[in-house]
Amino acid sequence: ASKAAGRDTVRVFESNMNDDASERIALETDLRNALAGNELSLNFQPIVHAKSGRFGSFEALIRWHHPTRGSVGPDIFVPILEQAGMITTVGDWIIREALREAATWDETTRISINLSPLQVRNRSLVATVAHALAQTGVDPKRVEFEITETALFDDTEESLSTLHGLHSLGVSISLDDFGTGFSSLSLLRIFPFDKIKIDKSFIDRMETSEECLAIVRAVIGLASSLGMRTTAEGIETASQAERLKKEGCSELQGFYFGRPQLPGDLVKEGLLRKAAATATRQDDVAAS
Ligand code: C2E
Ligand code: MG
Ligand code: MG
Ligand code: MG
Repeated sequence: ASKAAGRDTVRVFESNMNDDASERIALETDLRNALAGNELSLNFQPIVHAKSGRFGSFEALIRWHHPTRGSVGPDIFVPILEQAGMITTVGDWIIREALREAATWDETTRISINLSPLQVRNRSLVATVAHALAQTGVDPKRVEFEITETALFDDTEESLSTLHGLHSLGVSISLDDFGTGFSSLSLLRIFPFDKIKIDKSFIDRMETSEECLAIVRAVIGLASSLGMRTTAEGIETASQAERLKKEGCSELQGFYFGRPQLPGDLVKEGLLRKAAATATRQDDVAAS
């Protein structure tokens, strides 16, 4: 494997197919020990209320610190967990760990947790979430799950019943990376989403491409007329943030506001304090 792709990352896939396969197998083997070896952890990235500027919630993002390779990104290892049948075990751990962390926060601050397609298809997910909520005592109104649209095509019936099950627990559901898959508008009609996350690729090009701006506007308008909120992801500049605010996007997320960080650093940098201090009574937790 070649070291390379920037700070804190290791490129593990070579262009050579055989290397790819053996790399994958090596990583899969190592992943089997990762959970027990405490190599997995969660980082948290702030999501900001566009109107109030409040740090209203944090998205949990998984990290793997490999003993010899260093940090390996979720874009590489989450698919391996899925293919190797390990995503349910690790996914359950992510849910428990994220809620355990959220339980230490101010009760107006929300948590967002990513779900793999395979978790959504598994009926036991609802029981896992119910159990974790009960154990940690976190109010379900503070909890949001993020699901990508690819999750929903293959097994509509199963996925639909899981999402309804989650909703009946009182948590909310976001459609992640909207616009990157083969988005079908009927998904928005069939599935009970509370929020659409507009993919970073549109935010990146919004200021240089009329088409991208038009799409961003249309998604915000569509969401609003369907009674859904919107989050723009991958905001890196002040001008993107200003623009999205003007367009009526409900929530803003990206390196401009804060990178994913360890729970200890959220405390150190006062982000949680900032979240709690700026909360107002109108800033209803359920409506965030
Ligand atoms: P995602 O859920 O769409 O998460 C957003 C990704 O964009 C994160 O990458 C985040 O670090 C990155 N990001 C956020 N703001 C910016 C920005 O302003 N600029 C740039 N360049 N990047 C930004 P990360 O943590 O590497 O995660 C990648 C993907 O891996 C996630 O996309 C999600 O699909 C998946 N993933 C991460 N954690 C989990 C998890 O706990 N469970 C599951 N099932 N998937 C996860
Ligand atoms: Mg996400
Ligand atoms: Mg996303
Ligand atoms: Mg993404």
